[in-house]
Amino acid sequence: MKRPFGQHFLFDPNILKKIIACGAVTQEDTVVEIGPGLGTLTKFLSFYAKRIIAIEIDKRLIAKLEGILSPCSNVELIQADAMKFPYDTIDGKFKVVANIPYYITTPLLFRLLEFKEKITGMTLLMQKEVAKRITASHGSKDYGVLSISAQFYTRPELKFMVSRKAFVPPPEVDSAVVHFNVSPSPLYRTCNEMLFFDIVKTAFAQRRKIISNSLKKFESIGTALSDSGIDPGLRPEKLSIEDFVRLTNALK
Ligand code: SAM
Repeated sequence: MKRPFGQHFLFDPNILKKIIACGAVTQEDTVVEIGPGLGTLTKFLSFYAKRIIAIEIDKRLIAKLEGILSPCSNVELIQADAMKFPYDTIDGKFKVVANIPYYITTPLLFRLLEFKEKITGMTLLMQKEVAKRITASHGSKDYGVLSISAQFYTRPELKFMVSRKAFVPPPEVDSAVVHFNVSPSPLYRTCNEMLFFDIVKTAFAQRRKIISNSLKKFESIGTALSDSGIDPGLRPEKLSIEDFVRLTNALK
């Protein structure tokens, strides 16, 4: 059965504590939790962190959460859409720890990365397939635009898997926890970030084609490939992020 707002709740205290440990949450930390649901992770977070800002979209859950979280004086409950919340209004830097709703995993990740100067780390429980794509290295079938976009600004690490059976009600897929070390500036130096992402997206739009064919729209691509020492007969998944950076800089 489909749930509104991707509502699959976690109650296992061992898994909840393990998620918080992956985020290395301390008493110094302000933590943003997206989708507190029935407040199980929120209650644990309130023991470990200084301040928790819990953003929940569902008005019906807010009414329940007000009761559940009333003993937790360091939790601020906000009824809002996490896709629209103005994270820059939060005082100081913060961490994000959340069991995120499946239906917005990728857009939510990119929305949060818009505030990367404010975020020191993110620990997100998400569907396993997306976690594998985010953390994939070149040469893997999971490697693509999502891996490169996430790894351009963060160092994502797949921490552990969570079976679908751990959730109430169980979703149709298994999950995984990914911890992201977030960098305020790109981890790679390109002369032109827009051109870099244009090249990456164009190459992966036809991932079965060799790059000398899929990247034809870029003038002098042949020279740029040879100047950057990249075999024009490769398919895009064989190129590391550094390769795409060198190619961008050679094309500029
Ligand atoms: N944290 C709880 C847990 O671990 O049991 C619930 C996790 S559940 C997978 C996702 C939660 O995100 C739900 O409570 C859902 O209502 C909420 N949610 C869905 N879309 C949201 C959005 N756009 N903004 C804020 N919360 C959202």
